[in-house]
Amino acid sequence: MVWLMRKLGTIAIVGASLAGLRAFQALRRAEFDGTITLVGAEKYLPYNRPPLSKSMLKGDDEVTLPGAEELGDHWLKGRQAVRLDTADRRLILDDGSEIHYDGLVIATGARPRHLPDTPEGVHTLRTIEDSLALRGELAAGHDNVVVIGGGFIGGEVASTARSLGLGVTLVDASPHPMRNALGTETARWLAGHHRDHGVELVSQARATGFDVDANGRVTGVRVSDGRTLPAGLVVAGMGVVPNTDWLEGSGLTLSDGVVCDERLFAVGREDVVAAGDVVRWPHSRYDGALVRVEHWSNANDQGAVAALNLLAGPENAKPFADLPSFATHVHGARIQTAGLPHLADETRVVAGDPGEGHFAVAFAKDGTLVGAVAVNAPKDLIRVKRAIVAGDRLDSLS
Ligand SMILES: Cc1cc2nc3c(=O)[nH]c(=O)nc-3n(C[C@H](O)[C@H](O)[C@H](O)COP(=O)(O)OP(=O)(O)OC[C@H]3O[C@@H](n4cnc5c(N)ncnc54)[C@H](O)[C@@H]3O)c2cc1C
Repeated sequence: MVWLMRKLGTIAIVGASLAGLRAFQALRRAEFDGTITLVGAEKYLPYNRPPLSKSMLKGDDEVTLPGAEELGDHWLKGRQAVRLDTADRRLILDDGSEIHYDGLVIATGARPRHLPDTPEGVHTLRTIEDSLALRGELAAGHDNVVVIGGGFIGGEVASTARSLGLGVTLVDASPHPMRNALGTETARWLAGHHRDHGVELVSQARATGFDVDANGRVTGVRVSDGRTLPAGLVVAGMGVVPNTDWLEGSGLTLSDGVVCDERLFAVGREDVVAAGDVVRWPHSRYDGALVRVEHWSNANDQGAVAALNLLAGPENAKPFADLPSFATHVHGARIQTAGLPHLADETRVVAGDPGEGHFAVAFAKDGTLVGAVAVNAPKDLIRVKRAIVAGDRLDSLS
């Protein structure tokens, strides 16, 4: 791909994680000869989050992203942007200092949704600190681990806790965990898979409060069906909210993320782009539906494209229309998704058999493929994914 470039003196990137690092690397590869400053609230070199709910909980601390060592002096470590002045093109940081920019990449990601008044022993999982704290608690052998939320993080933590021999109860608001992301067929299979691995499922229920002991540590989770579940340790995986608070008053359009155009420029701005978990943009493959995608591969690819689009300028920029894709491992099973299954009005098992634990489901809207989910069937996932990209119809899959 040939990218035409415009002249920008200084590019600031806010958020030193996956999308931010990939933006930085793309600028370097494009031989951008101005100044790049990467502002990151965390004290660690940019790292991979997927291992935080998997290998790191079991003792593997190697999570630094390849390429992070290239940052050198460009990285403002442990510094947070607290305000954006788009009129004067200034970033204001938490120590009161300011950075002038000609172009800005917003890559501030997302943070976990929290329950109010959480006592000691209730964890969320987004950062290295979170993972190390949870690892310590799991190693302490607290039994009765209650996981609130059956999404991918909840599912992975439940799986890890079971593999460590701990008792696990999973509380989820829907009839079957991950129904929205995976569709009914796979979500039903996943519920059985959890049960087969000793997880007690409490479905169609919400956590409403906690019981604590004299030291203020959690002892129970009260749920909306009236029960109190004994809890030695609680992990809340209830989704995330995009980190846009610092952009309030900047004039950027904020609505469940930074709202951008299809080339990832913040609406109405030619000098600001956004990438990763924080961006909501119209996906041209899905009739311009506004989407925000919380997947590793999205942040990885979008960081680079957003930065190159910023260099190219709006007229020469390319739309970002990659197919979202995601993978998780739960109790040894590999679950993969492609596209946007939740948009579908029709689904069909196109390979394997849920009863046998390996299968693929295709999702269509008005007959055209929009998504795929596969369990222990990576080749079938690739086949359906190709058909989605080709714009094929559900009936074309044999
Ligand atoms: C435990 C866990 C497991 C996961 N597993 C998978 C998986 O198996 N597969 C998959 O596809 N995806 C997975 N994901 C999701 C994936 O990690 C994210 O999609 C990806 O990290 C998004 O990258 P990002 O750079 O957009 O944002 P983030 O990784 O959220 O990074 C944003 C960075 O910006 C910083 N920041 C925020 N506000 C400011 C500010 N004002 N100033 C300066 N810095 C700021 C934050 O501290 C953070 O370092 C997982 C996520 C988690 C938490």
